[in-house]
Amino acid sequence: MTQNSELGTRNSLIETRALVKAFGLLPVLRKLDLDITRGEFVALLGPNGSGKSTLLRLLGALSKPTAGDIHIGGWKLPEEAAAVRAQIGMVSHKVLLYENLSARENLRFFARLYHLPAAQADERITALLEQVGLARRTHDLVRTFSRGMQQRLSIARALLHNPDILLLDEPYTGLDVDASSVLDALLTDAHAAGRTILMSTHELNRAAELASRVIILSRGVIGYDAPTAGLDGLRLSAIYTETTSMATAR
Ligand code: ADP
Ligand code: MG
Repeated sequence: MTQNSELGTRNSLIETRALVKAFGLLPVLRKLDLDITRGEFVALLGPNGSGKSTLLRLLGALSKPTAGDIHIGGWKLPEEAAAVRAQIGMVSHKVLLYENLSARENLRFFARLYHLPAAQADERITALLEQVGLARRTHDLVRTFSRGMQQRLSIARALLHNPDILLLDEPYTGLDVDASSVLDALLTDAHAAGRTILMSTHELNRAAELASRVIILSRGVIGYDAPTAGLDGLRLSAIYTETTSMATAR
């Protein structure tokens, strides 16, 4: 597999052009153009059904576009999905974990999948389990975990291979106050370390506070796109209502 020859001319780490995804006759994304630069932390907002998960799944190479182009890090999707997946850590609704393995065994399994050397992997797994507050449940089977604990483990799994890009689909859902602050800190660190983050969420305060840019999806296109500088949760909430109600009125 060769690196895309146009790489040198691309400024965006994540780029979509006229991206369309339809389910049957229903178009969910309608010619979406998106550019995300390396190091940006983008909060993806939008009502239920606006296409946030659909977009994240496409970017994570978990589904294929109906039409249009996707490039990530110079690689083209869906053709170069394996190369793209290696750069991405994904936290989605579906918890991608094995119920009959322990927390540590799950992470070991994924470490092998990412070809991490065993010794290095074990050290990293210990640190990550500590970070997400699961150190004491290391050897317990995942099927005995609460939904929030599974979510914590999914977050550890997403960070395991030190990916350049994090795609998170409503990662705060199901987390308690404590786990939510752990995630705040992990995301802040990841952003400071130069990782590129795209996260769907309904938490407008968090979006305004943590992210560097906010995008509101509305009827399958970008209805609003701006830096979060100067935005607080209240202002963002007003913008959100305006953007999404305009779409309903159309
Ligand atoms: P969001 O994550 O913003 O709530 P989704 O991307 O999950 O929205 O869904 C957008 C639209 O696409 C919804 O109308 C949903 O019913 C539809 N949709 C999503 N996935 C599928 C699928 N696999 N088959 C059919 N329709 C789907
Ligand atoms: Mg969704």
